[in-house]
Amino acid sequence: MRETDQAPQTAEEASAPGAVVGPQSAAHEAKPEERGAPTADRAELASAWEAICAEIRSRIQPELFETWFRRAALVELRDDLVAVAVQNAFARDWLERYHRGVIEESVQESLGRAATVELRVDPELALPPRTHEEPEEVPAGRSAPASLVQQGAATSAGGAPDLSSALVRGSDVGLNAKYTFDNFVVGPCNRFAHAASVGAAESPGAAYNPLFLHGNVGLGKTHLLQSLCFSLLENWEGVRILYLSCETFVNHFIGALENGDLQAFRNKYRGVDVLVVDDIHLLANKERTQEEFFHTFNTLYNAGKQIVLSSDSPPKEIPTLQERLVSRFKWGLVTELEAPCYETRVAILKRKARERGRELPADVAGLLAERIDSNIRELEGAVTKLFGYSDLSGEPVSSDLAHVALRDVFSVRRGGPTLDNIVAVITEEFPVKLSDLQSRRRTATIAFPRQIAMYLARRVTRHSLEEVGGFFGGRDHSTVLYAVTKISGLLERDPAMADLLSGLLERLGERPL
Ligand code: ADP
Ligand code: MG
Repeated sequence: MRETDQAPQTAEEASAPGAVVGPQSAAHEAKPEERGAPTADRAELASAWEAICAEIRSRIQPELFETWFRRAALVELRDDLVAVAVQNAFARDWLERYHRGVIEESVQESLGRAATVELRVDPELALPPRTHEEPEEVPAGRSAPASLVQQGAATSAGGAPDLSSALVRGSDVGLNAKYTFDNFVVGPCNRFAHAASVGAAESPGAAYNPLFLHGNVGLGKTHLLQSLCFSLLENWEGVRILYLSCETFVNHFIGALENGDLQAFRNKYRGVDVLVVDDIHLLANKERTQEEFFHTFNTLYNAGKQIVLSSDSPPKEIPTLQERLVSRFKWGLVTELEAPCYETRVAILKRKARERGRELPADVAGLLAERIDSNIRELEGAVTKLFGYSDLSGEPVSSDLAHVALRDVFSVRRGGPTLDNIVAVITEEFPVKLSDLQSRRRTATIAFPRQIAMYLARRVTRHSLEEVGGFFGGRDHSTVLYAVTKISGLLERDPAMADLLSGLLERLGERPL
């Protein structure tokens, strides 16, 4: 997924960092004339700053540069002193804390001499207030066309394929006839994963290749993978699909090594039209199998064959997964299945009841959806248990009965940090208030803490993207997703960011990074 910077700016401003050489303001701590030797003139300052910025840019991520240096300016330049001004104390403290080293190195490199770097505040560098609300930016290529979603609903309208004649060569598990697109309830939590699966089933090897679905257990990965197989089997006569768990791939490979029939193994895996591997995270710590899978992947990919993978975590978080596999897994579409939001949970409960030929009263569905919020398998289990209990006791299904039947399920909710706790640590760390975080304002000094808050909310609470977006100013789920991607990216590349987040996590009573 592409990262873009969300700091409010115009292209013109962003491309001319050195141009912001404003008159020195009263906020400067030291006036040039107090220091003896004459300071550089405006033109000199501008060109020196441009050179320093070029060095800074080469040392930090573009998003960090845009956020922290775009509005900075060189205000004084002497042999032994370089003074850089920023728009407010917050930005100055941030630079002081996290980027002083980079500035010093860049000064030394571009000027050819070491100089003391002074960071100052110049309110005149603050941009004029925005006069209108701009829509939130959403990275390109995010949403799947709506038509895909609709087509998905109709894909298996022709009924389940005849499994006896289905050609799923060498697959270790039979497909579960219930796992079809028709039986999959689509909500905001799984819309992209669903649409991408439908897309891959409709144009295998073209639309999303590889397709990589990840998410916690019980959120529908296997269901989608099998739906995709069914759909292909229905629409493509003679398709050769190999659907298997990663474990089987590992076992087959070990068996082939032991028996010396690696060639047969390779012929089998590399001769299919579609390879679907469930739970690919099990490749973790299996170096030789990763090596083999890498070659399998390349052969199939280069031949335009569709590869579909599921995992409990995104590619880069699979422990010890070779970098070249991580990058290949990201070539196509990586999409997450999230915990379902309340409305989706209710819809799933109703669907599961109907699949059993029963109806779930609305208040009972509401109660279950409220109490079981993270795992669809658990929702399904609760429905089964409740109807079973009702049948045995002869009592009709009601909220009261649910409380009795599902006692143990209801009691295991854990009490982790809440959104309010997150707001508390964010407003302590940054000069922002709750009302700022919930406002539409997008200046960097507000947007950045808000993005960190969203990231934390997704990391330590069970709130869905919608819920988090709703809380932080009625933003939509893609804004939250964007924030999470951006902060995760910064986290990977910037140790200062990792320090900051570790501190915040600790204050929330969570394990630091
Ligand atoms: P995973 O492979 O992610 O652990 P599964 O695909 O096995 O999860 O899903 C667990 C159970 O929840 C399955 O019975 C599946 O049918 C059901 N399920 C998951 N997501 C949905 C959904 N969106 N609509 C209907 N049922 C679902
Ligand atoms: Mg599964």
